[in-house]
Amino acid sequence: MTAPSRDELVGRAHELGRVFATRAERHDREASFPYDDFADLRDAGFLGVCVPTEYGGLGADFATYARVSEALGHHAPATALAFNMHCVTMMLTGQIGGSLDWDDAARAMLDDRRRRLYTGVIERCEVHAQPFSEGILTGATVGYATVAQPVEGGYRVTGKKIFASLSEAATWHNVVAVVPGEQRVRFLGVHREAEGLRIEGEWDPVGMRATLSRDLVLSDVFVPAEQEWLPPDGFNQAAHRWPHFYLTLSFTYLGLIGGVLDATAAYLRSSGRHTNPVKQQAWAEMQIAHERAQALMYRVVDEAGVDPTPVQVRRAWTAMVTVMETAPQVASTALRICGGRSLLKPQVLERMYRDARCGSTMLPWAVDVCLERLGRYGLVDDEAPPA
Ligand SMILES: Cc1cc2nc3c(=O)[nH]c(=O)nc-3n(C[C@H](O)[C@H](O)[C@H](O)COP(=O)(O)OP(=O)(O)OC[C@H]3O[C@@H](n4cnc5c(N)ncnc54)[C@H](O)[C@@H]3O)c2cc1C
Repeated sequence: MTAPSRDELVGRAHELGRVFATRAERHDREASFPYDDFADLRDAGFLGVCVPTEYGGLGADFATYARVSEALGHHAPATALAFNMHCVTMMLTGQIGGSLDWDDAARAMLDDRRRRLYTGVIERCEVHAQPFSEGILTGATVGYATVAQPVEGGYRVTGKKIFASLSEAATWHNVVAVVPGEQRVRFLGVHREAEGLRIEGEWDPVGMRATLSRDLVLSDVFVPAEQEWLPPDGFNQAAHRWPHFYLTLSFTYLGLIGGVLDATAAYLRSSGRHTNPVKQQAWAEMQIAHERAQALMYRVVDEAGVDPTPVQVRRAWTAMVTVMETAPQVASTALRICGGRSLLKPQVLERMYRDARCGSTMLPWAVDVCLERLGRYGLVDDEAPPA
């Protein structure tokens, strides 16, 4: 099967997103997971959007996925953000995993795991989550407290993940964990029905409420060896050699900026304020901010790949900060120029403003982390960009 074109996939994502937008207010208000949106994604074959075509997927590469995610985020940011967790696992095992260096045994392992994982997605419509965060991290590949104790036939995994998006909806919770005495990070799929797995905690956040990101607790959970999705060194290689994959969170927020622009124009026109020069000045600035963020992000995603240069990694941090900070700024300006009634639920701008605020906190490339790295770049002789 040949992969649909980028334009075709982005067009379909916009069509889906327009439907999701009609449900977004309810999911936000209830902080409920958008099962209906995910059913539509499934029916459209989008669970396999980043699955290679030889495994029955739609074959979107990283740069195409960026535009697809942006399109979904334009209409329904929380759905797009949750869906991103699923897609990143597909890319880690697909385009990214495929471009890393492996010996024969590791390559055979990767091929076997991909086949298992993609068969579940394409044939059984399984959904993958990616709960990595523990609230104590010191980096993308260091500081994990979740332990994978090797046992006969696999691992016993114990740990707690916070902000586990899709907590109640995922078939697989793909966690990172360390084997005692090792430095490298393992990437393990824990099935939702595994004994010892618990979802707990409240979920009542300011924004991105439909991601339903409760806590995931693993108590001595047995994970069979064939559910280790990447060869043992795979996660570390990906983090160090394909660092652009941390950008994926920002695509939702890039789309959100575009969504804010549409909602602002519609609001101003319907309220008759669109001819006011003060509004027009702010509106012009919002468009410039959007174009700037989008142009930079497109440049960066188009140069993503294995072993980027330090300058390319620096540009990726810059793009991350630009998008994650532009989103709340633009959303804030939108509320100011639209006025008090745009602050009232169920206004879309009110919700997008709250959603926009979440992006800059998202690790491992949270805005403060990127700023810290950019602050050292060119001034302090770090050996290599930290993962
Ligand atoms: C809506 C939403 C959905 C999420 N979904 C997921 C998910 O599915 N999977 C997942 O793994 N995570 C997810 N996260 C979690 C997210 O990526 C962060 O891990 C989480 O927000 C960290 O919480 P914290 O800011 O309290 O952590 P802390 O680590 O305590 O960070 C506190 C502050 O310090 C900053 N900081 C941390 N380390 C550094 C550093 N080295 N240098 C400079 N500043 C630093 C942070 O940016 C933050 O501002 C989600 C978060 C949100 C808001």
